[in-house]
Amino acid sequence: MSQPSPEVYERGKGMDAHNQVMREIRSEKEKHYDPHEPTRVWLDEDNTPDGVVQSLTIILNTGGCRWARAGGCTMCGYVAESVEGGSVAHDALMDQIDVCLEHEAENAEEPADLIKIYTSGSFLDEREVGAETRTAIAETFADRQRIVVESLPDFVDREKIADFTDVGLSTDVAIGLETATDRIRHDCVNKYFDFADFEAACEEARDADLEADGVDAGIKAYLLMKPPFLSESEAVDDMISSVRRCAAVDGCHTVSMNPTNVQRYTMVDELFFRGGYRPPWLWSVAEVLESTADVDAIVVSDPVGHGSDRGPHNCGECDDRVQKAIKDFDRRQDPSVFEQVSCDCEATWEYVIEAETSYGMPLAR
Ligand code: SF4
Ligand SMILES: [Zn+2]
Repeated sequence: MSQPSPEVYERGKGMDAHNQVMREIRSEKEKHYDPHEPTRVWLDEDNTPDGVVQSLTIILNTGGCRWARAGGCTMCGYVAESVEGGSVAHDALMDQIDVCLEHEAENAEEPADLIKIYTSGSFLDEREVGAETRTAIAETFADRQRIVVESLPDFVDREKIADFTDVGLSTDVAIGLETATDRIRHDCVNKYFDFADFEAACEEARDADLEADGVDAGIKAYLLMKPPFLSESEAVDDMISSVRRCAAVDGCHTVSMNPTNVQRYTMVDELFFRGGYRPPWLWSVAEVLESTADVDAIVVSDPVGHGSDRGPHNCGECDDRVQKAIKDFDRRQDPSVFEQVSCDCEATWEYVIEAETSYGMPLAR
């Protein structure tokens, strides 16, 4: 065991305190869902290493995230969608997949090339999705091109990835890294793992990639712009360095940087309610994408709830235009899209970047 140091001690204390608050907040609301129905399913298009393709996104209902039950991340309200009893059996999970296939058959002209499966937890955690279900899902989608599954880094290993690559599916593991800065991930997001764990998961994916025949395997890093307790400029700096650090790791080919939105029953929501939190500006999102456009990875962002108080927003006048530029950037990776948008509120944003601090500043001695 590591020796206690003031820093580690304080950090551990912080996590306990965050968990306690988050447990209380989450206990205010528990929804119960049918284990035979997916949480959500929808059709979309996505930028992948093979270009822009049609995608089918599935949010499987697997019993919710264990970390969320311990308290969990400060911005995440997903536990509200967990099922009673804590785990979902193989047959029920396969029923959920059938519902998704029916949805696709009814709404899409042809089967999507890309399948994305999220679980509000870790698809590769065998306590959430057992090996039997994992291989059955791989078989079900063996006729597609690419699959993305979501997992915390601890559960990523080359054999599990090989279940998918062996049936001819290029495979990406989406990891909610949130930030490359350990201090911010621990103290602002309340996520327990380290950047080194992310690097280890990338290495597993790289090994799986080397062993795969005719298909590829890699990591898609999800970053969170502006967790609580950071000023706007700290959030921007954190994202610029995080995008660069992720893109530099072998095996990580895509970075999805997403601005925080205020979800109900979270610590972010409590802070927001009391005037202690503002979601990031869309100008900040544009700034990060523009200034990291040279990195050797696909960098995308999908601001959810843009233009609303609870989502990333500017002044209300320009939000749709800036959002459109961000979506253009996602598809084309061309930073010049941001030269075509401007608004008077940019001056306010620039002042916020310069003057906002994340701690109480005494105005007089
Ligand atoms: S963000 Fe992910 S790890 Fe954190 S509580 Fe939510 S589902 Fe769990
Ligand atoms: Zn504006």
